Amino acid sequence: MGLRNNGLKVLVLDRAVFPRPKTCGDAVPGRAIKILSASDAGFGPAFAPFPKKLLTKRTTLHYGGRVLTFEWVREAYTCARTDFDHILVQRLLHLGAGEVRQGEALTSATRVPAGFSITTSAGNTMTTRLLIGADGAKSAVAAALAPRKSDRDHLGASVRAYFDGLHGLDPYTTLVFFHKRLIPSYLWIFPLPNGRANVGVGMLSSELVRRRLNLKEVFYDFLNTLPEVRALTAGAVQLGKLEGYSLPFGSAQVPISGDGFMLAGDAASLVDPGTGDGIGNAVLSGHLAAQTALEGLKLGNTTAGYLMRYDHAVARALNREFRTHYFFQKALQRHPALLSAAFRLYGFPPLNKLVKKLL
Ligand SMILES: Cc1cc2nc3c(=O)[nH]c(=O)nc-3n(C[C@H](O)[C@H](O)[C@H](O)COP(=O)(O)OP(=O)(O)OC[C@H]3O[C@@H](n4cnc5c(N)ncnc54)[C@H](O)[C@@H]3O)c2cc1C
Repeated sequence: MGLRNNGLKVLVLDRAVFPRPKTCGDAVPGRAIKILSASDAGFGPAFAPFPKKLLTKRTTLHYGGRVLTFEWVREAYTCARTDFDHILVQRLLHLGAGEVRQGEALTSATRVPAGFSITTSAGNTMTTRLLIGADGAKSAVAAALAPRKSDRDHLGASVRAYFDGLHGLDPYTTLVFFHKRLIPSYLWIFPLPNGRANVGVGMLSSELVRRRLNLKEVFYDFLNTLPEVRALTAGAVQLGKLEGYSLPFGSAQVPISGDGFMLAGDAASLVDPGTGDGIGNAVLSGHLAAQTALEGLKLGNTTAGYLMRYDHAVARALNREFRTHYFFQKALQRHPALLSAAFRLYGFPPLNKLVKKLL
């Protein structure tokens, strides 16, 4: 979107045809809504009447019979990604922000003097001066141009399923449950319209390996052993399979640009290591990549040296929260007792602001 109306020839390729499924918790963070509304004046009016979303007013954290409540200041929603991403593609088409080809995947990218020669699954070959890889956790662009070793200490795994008929959910409240044996992992229950809910769990990959856990078993362990969760899910029906995908955490701090290319979102490993949120950071990095692309193309400079300013801009915006959240995730992993201490301290008004900041 950020590249529109600048006289550039823009091609958007996506391997999927929208609406397409995407394994996610479906909690669309305030950061995504804020940036989308600022960069496209038509996004707010198009999204406001959309019936397949719920406003998130608060999140409650549950542990050992205690509850912490966080009221959200920023406008945030739950909305199935199939629907949310479809709206974004519709906006792109409406704005005429470039040629959009759906159902066509990038299959290779080779450096040539004019930029990159790319080939696609439709058998097309074309040359581009600048390539932006926003193609997810298993990015073909990152694999071709910025290959990196997978580091399980900065990679999460996550599974989710949809449920119908959970009892006593407040539609505006998302819920998070901790389990004594499984800290810092947590189960989420995110209400969706029509009495549905997205229920899921995530964990650091190195922890899964160290503890020899199977994430699908962890999911059902949460569901079957936590009394509050059992009460909510009794009689509820699971719709479809439990599906999983990886979460490349921002704590990995990998290079996200090079000569003639930039990576954004999961391709750039930008998921929050504490909360598992990646939509807001994907939108933010896409926005910053578009800004950098416009400036660089105007100056005729898309060298690795010039595009480093994109890495710096993303780092300025996100590294502090990545570091803090990674630190607390590790601290809870090593000292799970800190979690019950935090829940107890929260009961003392002078300390609850501090606890809210830390969690
Ligand atoms: C179980 C689970 C729960 C999660 N819950 C949340 C949550 O509640 N809130 C949150 O903020 N984040 C959540 N996340 C993280 C979030 O889903 C991602 O961070 C976010 O989708 C990243 O957006 P993206 O655009 O970078 O990648 P994606 O959403 O994965 O989009 C990548 C796009 O690239 C296309 N593509 C892939 N390969 C190619 C190719 N070779 N050529 C062309 N196109 C290609 C795909 O079709 C896709 O449309 C969750 C993740 C998981 C796995």
